[in-house]
Amino acid sequence: MSLMRRIMLSCEEATQLASRKEEEALGMAKTMHLHLHLAVCKPCMRFYRQSALLSGVAKKQVDRALGRKVPLHRMSDEEKVKLQKLIHNRIQKI
Ligand SMILES: [Zn+2]
Repeated sequence: MSLMRRIMLSCEEATQLASRKEEEALGMAKTMHLHLHLAVCKPCMRFYRQSALLSGVAKKQVDRALGRKVPLHRMSDEEKVKLQKLIHNRIQKI
């Protein structure tokens, strides 16, 4: 097995670890391998972020169902300006 193959995960391995990360601690070595792959692979980074987002939403739903208080996220003025600029830029490209 080549050194590169031992260091770099495949996309399948990376997405499996990204999914497992939402359910359990991966440990330092697996976390490093995952983040090394994510640093060079945009599709897997996108999957990782979306997986984390969905997991966060699911956890909030469970907390609400169990009657736990979940703070509402309110956008800061800075976030609002960033979002306005992003929308404006996207509209300009249409
Ligand atoms: Zn990948």
